Amino acid sequence: MVEESRALKVMTVYGTRPEAIKVAPVVLGLEADDRFESVAVVTGQHREMLDQVNELFGITPDFDLDVFEHGSSLSTIVARVLERLDPILVSEAPDAVIVQGDTSTSTAAALAAFHRQIPVMHLEAGLRSGNIDSPFPEEANRQVTTRLAALHLAPTTTSRDNLLVENVDPALVLVTGNTVIDALLTTVDKHVPFTDPQLEALSDPGARILLVTTHRRENWDHMGAIGRAVARLARQFPDVQVVLPAHRNPIVREAVLPPLAGLDNVTVVEPLAYGEFTRMLAMSSVILTDSGGVQEEAPSLAKPVLVLRENTERPEAMEAGTVRLIGTDEQRIVDEVSRLLADDAAYAEMANATNPYGDGHATPRILDAIEKLLTGR
Ligand code: UDP
Repeated sequence: MVEESRALKVMTVYGTRPEAIKVAPVVLGLEADDRFESVAVVTGQHREMLDQVNELFGITPDFDLDVFEHGSSLSTIVARVLERLDPILVSEAPDAVIVQGDTSTSTAAALAAFHRQIPVMHLEAGLRSGNIDSPFPEEANRQVTTRLAALHLAPTTTSRDNLLVENVDPALVLVTGNTVIDALLTTVDKHVPFTDPQLEALSDPGARILLVTTHRRENWDHMGAIGRAVARLARQFPDVQVVLPAHRNPIVREAVLPPLAGLDNVTVVEPLAYGEFTRMLAMSSVILTDSGGVQEEAPSLAKPVLVLRENTERPEAMEAGTVRLIGTDEQRIVDEVSRLLADDAAYAEMANATNPYGDGHATPRILDAIEKLLTGR
């Protein structure tokens, strides 16, 4: 317990695009709050996509572990984070370390903090798919981080209940909402211009857009099927514009993109900066994705989401009817997307605004909970 009355030094460690988006409101909240001194550490697990998010939110990291190298194994990433974070934990001596979600960065950072007996605050705690192999390696990462954490900041009551089933002390679990909704709601209305003029041209109201994102490691073997299904949809619905911001991973690009070559109504672009992506989400009719974050964001914009996975650790929007799991079979993808594009009633049934992931005010709850845990106040 921190006894003296002084600012609490809180270090946030993050390394991938989705973590950067989800910690940004918290880092900005810490910076603006006299109760805290903020130290932001990036690992650079995703390089350009991470820097893009920091730039958008105006965050300048205090330390950069720069662990990224093409083709690094998961173990190499974890080993580098452990080795490079440890001296910073010693020199900075934070009162607490925040980690987010389920990446290799977050679990390695949690372990490094645990080794130095610094309490770990886990954002987005308690998500579970129930299958250790899927999503891989995230399901294992999130379970390990739970074992190491001192405070569990759960986005929903479902995630809190998952933790309680695992005998986590209820006094150390708080339902806060997901900070991705804080990030989304402060970004989506800014109407940022698209860097790519092809996308600006699509902003004409009336054009129906199918937005596609895919990157999940366990889908790598199915990327060809996903690309072929999207190509068939583009041919079947020439009035629909397909937009695909391509993940930087070459394994993803080499499999998904070839079937899409030469199709006039398919626009493949570089990963969009978060402001542009949220604008594109708001412009889209249907979202086809294997992303976790997009499953959380799109429902609050009343966009139907078809998820290219067999399971999800985010059942809330599925229960509300705006998200459907469809897997990665080529024919099934074509059938499910076609149904939404061709059948107005089926579309209307899914396109309901629902916000199971938060009200956009998760950050103040998180900051209060951290202060309470560290000081008892
Ligand atoms: N996103 C983005 N630009 C893109 C695609 C996605 O900013 O071109 C954002 C999206 O809004 C969401 C996050 O990135 O908040 C999701 O990241 P990703 O799909 O890489 O990871 P996951 O959520 O599956 O962990």
